[in-house]
This record gives sequence, C-alpha cells and structure tokens, in this order.
Amino acid sequence: MLIVLKERDNSEELDRLLSYFNKRGIETYLIKSDNRTIIEFSSEDSNVDKKQIMSFPVVDRVIDIKDPFRLVNRKLIEKDTIIETNNIPIGGDAPVIIAGPCSVENERQIIDTAWIVKEHGGHILRGGVFKPRTSPYSFQGLRKEGIHLLFKAKQETGLPIISEVVDSGDIPYLEKYVDILQVGSRNMQNYELLKAVGRADKPVLLKRAMSATLNEFLMSAEYIMMEGNRQIILCERGIRTFTDHSRNTLDLSIVPAIKQITHLPIIVDPSHGTGRSDLVESMSLAALAAGAQGLMIEVHPEPQQSLSDANQALNPLQFSNLMHKVQHFIEWQKAYANHSPAY
Ligand code: PEP
Ligand code: MN
Repeated sequence: MLIVLKERDNSEELDRLLSYFNKRGIETYLIKSDNRTIIEFSSEDSNVDKKQIMSFPVVDRVIDIKDPFRLVNRKLIEKDTIIETNNIPIGGDAPVIIAGPCSVENERQIIDTAWIVKEHGGHILRGGVFKPRTSPYSFQGLRKEGIHLLFKAKQETGLPIISEVVDSGDIPYLEKYVDILQVGSRNMQNYELLKAVGRADKPVLLKRAMSATLNEFLMSAEYIMMEGNRQIILCERGIRTFTDHSRNTLDLSIVPAIKQITHLPIIVDPSHGTGRSDLVESMSLAALAAGAQGLMIEVHPEPQQSLSDANQALNPLQFSNLMHKVQHFIEWQKAYANHSPAY
C-alpha cells in the first residue's frame, strides 16, 4: 500500500499521520517523488485501515499496490513518463534513435560516426569509453580521453551524447559532459551503482541484465527512482538462451508487457540483442512494431576495424538503409494508429 500526500507541504499534519502509524507499531518510510511525498510501509500493512487514513487531511490518495515495484508502477503514475534531453523527447509518440560506435576509438572515428548518425536522422550519439569487456586483454576503452572526444563530437554536430558508467566514482566527471548515463547489462544489479545514478542529475538508460526477469529489471529501476531520479529509460538488449545463431535472444515481448505495468519508456538494442549486423534491420523494425519507444544501434565507419563488437556494427550504407526503413515504418505506424477499420 502507498499513501500519496497532497502537494502542499504541511509537516504538522504529516507528523500527526506518522505518529498514528507509530502508535500502531507500523514502520513507514517517506519517498519524495514528483514534488510529492509518498509513504511506503516497511512492515506488514494488513492492519492499516484505509478509511481512517483517508480521513487525514494531508492524504491525497491511498493506492493498493501488491507488486514489489512501486515508484515505477503505472498504478502510481498512470501517464507515460516522457524524458527530455536537449529538446528530444524520449517516451513520447516519436521513437528516438540512439546510434554510434560500441567504443570511442579516436577523434576521426567518433566525429565521422557522429556526422553519419546526424545526416541520417539519428537523435543521440552513443559511444562507450569505460568498456566492460569479457576479457581483461580486450580493448578497455579510452576512459576520460574518450569522454572528451565524444564531447567534441557533440560540439561539432549538436547531437546529445550517452555513455556507460561502470564506477560510481566516475559519475561527477561523466555528468559534466554526457547527456544520458548508461548502466550496462552487467551492472543492472549493481545496487550501489544504481543508487549513485539515482542521485545524479542526468537521465539514466538502464539495460536489462542477460538473465533478468521483468520483475528484476523493474526492481533495478525502482532503486534508481527511490533516490529521486525519475528520468529512467529502460532498454531491452537480449537475454541468454540456448540459441547459437545469435549472440543473445532479443526478447521483444517484454516491450508490450512492460509498458502495461510501468510508466517508464522502453527502447530496444538490436545490435547487442543479435550480435549480427545482418539481423539488425529486421529486429529494429520488429522492435518498433512491438511498441519500442526507440532504438539503440551500433554504427562504425569501418565495422571490420572496430575495436569492439565488430560483427554487429552497421556500416554507413547499412545505417542509411535502416534509417530509411525506420522512417517509412514510423509514417506507416502513425497512419495505422489513426485508422479505424470499418468492421
Ligand atoms: C553497450 O551498449 O556498449 C554495452 C556494453 O551493452 P550491454 O551492456 O547491453 O552489453
Ligand atoms: Mn557494444
């Protein structure tokens, strides 16, 4: 059960309500969300009398939520959350296209890629600088030097930028330059990192862990939101299954399923989801058909030369073809949404 208080701040009335719970031995804690205070019960709430609580003037609503996730729950916030970065809405009607290389490798590579992304209608430039690699012998990213190159690409093209954070100690530095902080699959359950990005002042793109259930995915978003940051973008990027034709299995049914129960936007990353550049286009269109509110695509000027994830990066021509189809698909989707069949 959640108790949403009225917007006006009345600490005397709030104290009266809290002492009501105290006397009954019911433990509570307060969450600030959207300029409102929400009371959540940390102990069993079955002996809480809903009618009595509603009689306190400070109380606006009492919501029965049995799900373990609260703040990300549509039962608490019914309307879709729309996140705005550099005048780009994420979570609205128009899908957002985030594209760029797996890793920032050098100035020429990131600036060339940024122009390719921009010229073909991409909205946000991605580029990893702290790379979580399976092998410690693989390229680990350019670290701080990479952030500066990514930022330079932003200054030249005007595209906002997103990059992954793997260590909470880097957040203050990253925040100065990037527009969105990415938490990768491997860190989806790094709860201290989630809390740290929850205190950051930038939107967070949270990628689903390789074996996370829908519930676990949302609980991770809940960690971020509990710290006060409600600008969260979810990202499906494929899960581990027995298949061996693709790197991961893109779980597209999570898109409509998660949209029913959370107000947060969800986008899809078909690059990591398949690990194969030849499958990226079909899965991008399938993701949009499933209701994804955006795509994250890996693009490289010369994929064969890529220092990470070479097999899944699109070359400029493939990216251009993809963007044409995506744009046509979006047009078709809009027309379809307004079309009411005669039967
Ligand atoms: C990435 O987007 O660069 C990345 C490492 O993805 P994931 O966390 O989904 O593996
Ligand atoms: Mn990658």
